[in-house]
Amino acid sequence: MAFKLPDLPYAYDALEPHIDARTMEIHHTKHHAGYTNNLNNAIAGTELEKMKIEDILAKVSKHSTAVRNNGGGYWNHKLFWEVMSPNGGGLPSERMNIHKAIMRDFGSFDKFKEEFSNAAATRFGSGWAWLCVDKKDKLFITSTPNQDNPLMDVAEKKGMPILGLDVWEHAYYLNYQNRRPDYIGAFWNVINWEQVTKNYNDANEGASNF
Ligand code: MN
Repeated sequence: MAFKLPDLPYAYDALEPHIDARTMEIHHTKHHAGYTNNLNNAIAGTELEKMKIEDILAKVSKHSTAVRNNGGGYWNHKLFWEVMSPNGGGLPSERMNIHKAIMRDFGSFDKFKEEFSNAAATRFGSGWAWLCVDKKDKLFITSTPNQDNPLMDVAEKKGMPILGLDVWEHAYYLNYQNRRPDYIGAFWNVINWEQVTKNYNDANEGASNF
């Protein structure tokens, strides 16, 4: 198999009460596992089996809908688990590069939080909200439908996602039912800023790749 379902970096109940254990377990073992298996089935016996997922997504318009949906689902959830932590939340520390970049590009943390939350709340139907880095090392917020992401050539705005929030109902319905804004509010309590600043630093170094 080309791609492997990653383990969660914490227990299923680690993000409670913000995200409940049952949701985390189903999300990981059913949804993310499903995208991973379906991606592997969709690329079996093709040249894509030997490619990096980021390279597949960069030219996803040339591939099947199954590769687009499941390749996106595989990559998006991998990022999602990493940018959350039971020790997360709060504000990024002032020593972090991501803190400086948020101040530079949004003016304040509150302004950034408002814009990101709004992108997540107003994404109609299923999709994702993203904080990304563009080619000029500037941060921007966007959202994508379904399992698309800003690495894809079909994306409205392209860049390297460094923070992502899954707003599919499967990510919150058991605990929050139709209250997506409450789930978005809870997400701020679990954001792993150590990982986001690492993603930001890595995106800087690889900025020419996207
Ligand atoms: Mn999901």
